Amino acid sequence: MGRTQPDKQRLLAMAERLAALERENRELEARLHALTEEAARNETLLRKTHGRELDLLQAGSLVQLLERLIHGLGSAYQLDAVSLVLHDPQHEIRHLLSGDTLARESLAEVQFVETLVALAPQLAALERPWLGRYCTADHELLIPHAAGLGSVALVPLLHAGQLDGVLVFGAKDPGRFTRELASDFLAHLGVIAGVCIENAVNRARLVRSGFTDFLTGFHNRRYLHARLCEELARAQRARQPVACLMIDIDHFKSVNDRYGHLAGDAVLREIAQRIDAEMRVSDTGARFGGDEFAIVLPNGSAADGAVVARRVLNAVRGSPIAIAPGVAETATLSIGVAAAAPRPDTRDFKSLAERLMAEADAALYRAKGAGRNGIAVSESTVA
Ligand code: GH3
Ligand code: MG
Repeated sequence: MGRTQPDKQRLLAMAERLAALERENRELEARLHALTEEAARNETLLRKTHGRELDLLQAGSLVQLLERLIHGLGSAYQLDAVSLVLHDPQHEIRHLLSGDTLARESLAEVQFVETLVALAPQLAALERPWLGRYCTADHELLIPHAAGLGSVALVPLLHAGQLDGVLVFGAKDPGRFTRELASDFLAHLGVIAGVCIENAVNRARLVRSGFTDFLTGFHNRRYLHARLCEELARAQRARQPVACLMIDIDHFKSVNDRYGHLAGDAVLREIAQRIDAEMRVSDTGARFGGDEFAIVLPNGSAADGAVVARRVLNAVRGSPIAIAPGVAETATLSIGVAAAAPRPDTRDFKSLAERLMAEADAALYRAKGAGRNGIAVSESTVA
């Protein structure tokens, strides 16, 4: 019995629907597969991110934190480039890092800017991570020194609703960071990183304040002592001497007596500035206490110390210090100079530092005894 024409047509239509369903099924399977893969990738990413975030939270110092943000995240996520832009309007973070040689060497990828929008206007509206194609005009300044990037992720570092900086991830693969990619984990990472930076800056501030004299902004005695020990250890390795200057203002009490304590404070600040201007970057200056200052000269002999002492003395007594409108006083100093040359077997640098300072102090008192406004240099090298 042959099929009728309408039967054939029905069968054909059914076969077509079946084929269409099969196609749809294959497509659904492929999508399911892709989604499962993405879920697995996200799961791995999430686990990795948890680990990285713990690392950031446990960083022991600001330098270590920045190092982990740049190099730690870079290798964990296998990125081709990472950069960090930090909002540092008062140059405070730069100051906090300035004594750290490690920072200078390992943090080339960190940029400090006065205003973030000046670097990239799109940062004004960056409340969530932005993922997409790399575009030289938009991203070159944010992630300099990176060649051949295909896609980037801009992760805002937010703290208390404020944008403190941007973490920039770069990949050569244009498909690595796309607008469709889930970015919740990056947003989370940005918040954690923002809080960590704020904390580390606060901690560094606190450490720094423990080493700083409030009145003059100079280092304090504690810092000088620690630094002197380090310099002596370095001097031993380099077989070089270290010179130390002890400086005391002459008859400073009479400034306080005649013009008051606040005027005395202003004179102390001015003298600190004049001393500072005579030092090299590698020298360390400190307010030792009261009206006494000290300078440590790495790789300095007693003769080198005497040269610096003469310069400091002349800078202070060279022009009067304004105390009040129409009132100025010329201050003079007494300075003691001594030098140390650590023996190759010396291990107790603390005691060596104390003996060097005592030797410079003894010279200072000789300068006072000799009539003030002058320098005395110790004849013997502390070893
Ligand atoms: P000398 O030439 O022997 O050094 O005489 P001097 O008057 O400077 O005596 P001395 O160094 O012993 O006294 C230091 C004075 O510095 C005593 C104190 O009144 C004053 N002084 C110490 N710390 C401060 C401070 O932070 N601010 C002010 N205004 N004065 C201070
Ligand atoms: Mg004095």
